[in-house]
Amino acid sequence: MQAGALDFRNRSGVLDALDGASFDLLVIGGGVTGAGIARDAAMRGLSVALVEARDFAAGTSSRSSKMIHGGLRYMAQGDLGLVQEAASERKAVEAIAPHLTRMTPFVIPAKNAAAIAKLRTGLWAFEKLGGVPKGRQHEVWSRKDVETREPAIDASDLTGAVAYPEYLTEDAKLTLANVRAAVAYGATVVSYAPVSEILVENGKAVGVVLDDTLNGETARARITARVIVNAAGPWVDRLRGLEDGAAKPRLMLSKGVHLVVDQARLPVSRTIIMGARDKRSVFAVPKGRFTYIGTTDTFYPEDHTWPVIDRDDIDYLLEATNKRFSIAPLGDADIVAAWSGVRPLVGQEGKSASEISRKDEVWTGPAGILAIAGGKLTAYRRMAERVVDTVEELIGRKPTASLTATTPLPGGDLDVEAVTSTLSATMPKLEAERLVALYGSEAPLAAGGPEAETRHAVTVEGALKLEDVWVRRSNRAWFDDKGSKAALPVMGAEMATLLNWSPDRTASEIKACLDIRADSLSALNTTTAST
Ligand code: FAD
Repeated sequence: MQAGALDFRNRSGVLDALDGASFDLLVIGGGVTGAGIARDAAMRGLSVALVEARDFAAGTSSRSSKMIHGGLRYMAQGDLGLVQEAASERKAVEAIAPHLTRMTPFVIPAKNAAAIAKLRTGLWAFEKLGGVPKGRQHEVWSRKDVETREPAIDASDLTGAVAYPEYLTEDAKLTLANVRAAVAYGATVVSYAPVSEILVENGKAVGVVLDDTLNGETARARITARVIVNAAGPWVDRLRGLEDGAAKPRLMLSKGVHLVVDQARLPVSRTIIMGARDKRSVFAVPKGRFTYIGTTDTFYPEDHTWPVIDRDDIDYLLEATNKRFSIAPLGDADIVAAWSGVRPLVGQEGKSASEISRKDEVWTGPAGILAIAGGKLTAYRRMAERVVDTVEELIGRKPTASLTATTPLPGGDLDVEAVTSTLSATMPKLEAERLVALYGSEAPLAAGGPEAETRHAVTVEGALKLEDVWVRRSNRAWFDDKGSKAALPVMGAEMATLLNWSPDRTASEIKACLDIRADSLSALNTTTAST
């Protein structure tokens, strides 16, 4: 059996076992923050429950730009602590999950020598602060270099560019790997089980009530815990409201949109930074047969699961792309998929969405619940370490050492090149790379097309709905032909076999995926869009 295998085909057994159970730590929210905390705490020997309202990573942790940043951007904001933390965390994630850290250079085009000099000064400091080794330091490109190395760029207004290494990840898989690692160390986890009530005794939160949204049952289980952590991302304030009806909102949500086009339409081999109309930097990222463009950063007052992608989001990204590249201009017909998410930022009066610090904050509510928000996927492990130190203190233990920086995550015990090359003997190299990036050392188990990926998703990765496989396990929702219209029925049929679905249930699961896709593309001009 695979380490921390998640198979929820006995889900009612899991809920029965949870009902009435008591833990050292209960974590609310199975995004990367909650999953990281659950893993760290379980590895330190605490008894842990992790409860998730939808699927693991169904919130912000599957909607990011998928970058494990070195933190150059924080350098410009003068936040040196964040730069250092981001750079050292990048190394840690690479050590425990090499398949989830794909090194891809970032290229910043520069219009004159002064711009190059400024970028170099920043990068030298950044490299020193982050302990970046020699072979991975930035390089300066001439205009000729830009033209030969990234020929799609319109270099007519450039003096050259600066290129430096960064890492790309699979956000949902990083989250899931942490959930599974927590399970491998004894944690109990459950999805589609939102906390609907906080149990308070003598002014102290002692437990929660869970619903079961998969079967429409309310008050399905009661759990008690010595410490409760609210890691509900954009929904942190809602949970704080359950603890304290008078709690004032602390979060400001900021929406980010990404568009996906075929690689042939935007052929880049590195991440290219582009200037947007409001002077923000946006980027085009190569990913297998596709390139994605992102991202926007605008306040969004709703905590929608699927934030609305509007016309202005699309125009903003296409405009910046068409300005930087000499390709035939991209239009609606080129957009093959789009996704959006909201950043759970901690509000700072008077600042624009992109100016608000990405530093995490932890608060203790009136009934003692620890709430955490505001950080980055990149620094999730370090954030978890700090929270679990506090948890240990709260239960009367001296904080013990965190073991999360060196122990591989499930799927992370591999030589990426060796596994990719073995798989490439039986399939196209791009498909082998896609599988290794998603499944790491388990890639051979998920090889064999959408059917095999679905089986792996249900029997090892805890998928319960078709959306779980399509969006978060196989990444096909955004990186497959036409949103994998052809693969969806195959995946649906496999899930029906594994989970005993009726034909009606299977059809409604497929429809739910198609609806998500249609909604995400609804702002496109439908007479030209390639849906
Ligand atoms: P979430 O992932 O949202 O998890 C919270 C979970 O709590 C959800 O799964 C939700 O369903 C669950 N929940 C809610 N209510 C309840 C309840 N009542 N009971 C139980 N569970 C509940 N960071 C980077 O490092 N690199 C990037 O490139 C990057 N790009 C980004 C781009 C965009 C557009 C966005 C929006 C964010 C980006 N980030 C990036 C930030 C990063 O994605 C977030 O910081 C991180 O994913 C937040 O994780 P989280 O676990 O706190 O929240």
